[in-house]
Amino acid sequence: MPVDPHYRPDPVYLTLGDEVADPVTPARFPKHVLRFRNQRWAQRVGLGALDQAEWEAAFARFQPLPDNLPRPLAMRYHGHQFQHYNPQLGDGRGFLFAQLRDAVDGRVLDLATKGSGTTPYSRGGDGRLTLKGGVREILAAELLEARGVPTSKAFSLFETGESLWRGDEPSPTRSSVLVRLGHSHLRFGTFQRHATHGRHDLVGRLVEHAIAHYLPEAQADPDAATMPPLAFLRAVVGRSAKLAARWMAAGFVHGVLNTDNMLVTGESFDYGPWRFLPRWDEGFTAAYFDHQGLYAYGRQPQAVLWNLARLAEALAGVLGDAPAMPILNEFAPVYRQAFVEAWLERLGVAPRGFEADRDLVEASLQLLAETQLPFDHLFHDWYGGLASEARAEASPVAAAYADSNAQPFREALREYEAAHPERLAEAVMQAPAPCSLLIDEVEAIWAPIADRDDWSLFEAKIAEIRAYGAVMGNAPAAPAT
Ligand code: AMP
Ligand code: MG
Repeated sequence: MPVDPHYRPDPVYLTLGDEVADPVTPARFPKHVLRFRNQRWAQRVGLGALDQAEWEAAFARFQPLPDNLPRPLAMRYHGHQFQHYNPQLGDGRGFLFAQLRDAVDGRVLDLATKGSGTTPYSRGGDGRLTLKGGVREILAAELLEARGVPTSKAFSLFETGESLWRGDEPSPTRSSVLVRLGHSHLRFGTFQRHATHGRHDLVGRLVEHAIAHYLPEAQADPDAATMPPLAFLRAVVGRSAKLAARWMAAGFVHGVLNTDNMLVTGESFDYGPWRFLPRWDEGFTAAYFDHQGLYAYGRQPQAVLWNLARLAEALAGVLGDAPAMPILNEFAPVYRQAFVEAWLERLGVAPRGFEADRDLVEASLQLLAETQLPFDHLFHDWYGGLASEARAEASPVAAAYADSNAQPFREALREYEAAHPERLAEAVMQAPAPCSLLIDEVEAIWAPIADRDDWSLFEAKIAEIRAYGAVMGNAPAAPAT
């Protein structure tokens, strides 16, 4: 492998010792057909120059990267799943493959897998990922990135030539192995596991590790010197509140907000039964197995706060008498502020102060709820505010804007200026419909892949999402040469 100056290996997980993970052997697959290579992010981490054979050796056969983890590590964690504690978890079909630095901002990033074989935590599962599961994770991560949600990136997907049996897909179904690039895989459940085992020494070590490598704001926190777990928790609460706010403005329903699917870096990851919101409906649920709607669209902020309370409990052994409750109470104000900010960002208007901005959001919600206008259309049609009025009135859903429930919104918008007027001329803004990913489209992208191995719709969608993200200022910058 040619050594690129932007490739900066830094396997920091090894500094935690050998009680936080288990070395594992990757599966060997009958076939390796490359289906997705994230060249933009490969360049960001100094892996953009890998040729096809090198990419396959790394991301299908998992030969170690230079000066990186000598063996893949199945990470140890537990978690609350649908509010029930499950001590049988851990990486059951994935592992940490490598850690390296982002060449632009210096953050430590993980390359980790899904579908790379069984581990001590597979619990009778096959350790595999369906091809459709891989395709769905790529699509979700790409649109979230384009909408400015902090998210892991899909990095590589190989189809692997096996037949899998699944209850939720017509089976047998095709197999794949996914590699994702993420800002740590330190889950809330990682802390829960060691706390449950009474290993508060390890919990303390994980807290120090997270602060040192992932949470610069916690380093600057006044509690950092005397009570690191408080500084840690405050940072995680703040980041998680902002993440939840961004999901909500993006119309994203994660689907499985278990504590093993939440990272302390406030980055979103692990996209299984996700959906984007078609119309305003707080009860809209993504996972077919979420019978109670516990993780429905409108319940996500609450679910995140519930998870943070479980993280705080896991810290009890290192917090001593220091109270966690006041920090958990910081969630709501941070969330409210971040939600309004993210909403205005999606509308492309410049903020005017919290009170006014909140009124604009409320007027938008009235319009969305009462007219059942397609969610993404609102932001697309009115991007930049009244500067887009003529376009909104020519929209295929313009009838909603003539409704009396649109009046408070249109009135409120009068006071607002476009935050990025130059974007209005772009082709993606002039298009009649927004760049969306509703379930029917996801299925329509998958169908030709399943029927005749036709990837053209998938590739066109990635290109469309990226063009939209670039206009929104959410494309990754290339490292300086
Ligand atoms: P997930 O639904 O991917 O967040 O996974 C929840 C837990 O189930 C984790 O411990 C996974 O590693 C494990 N798991 C999910 N699917 C499989 C599978 N096909 N084989 C083995 N373990 C799995
Ligand atoms: Mg998971």
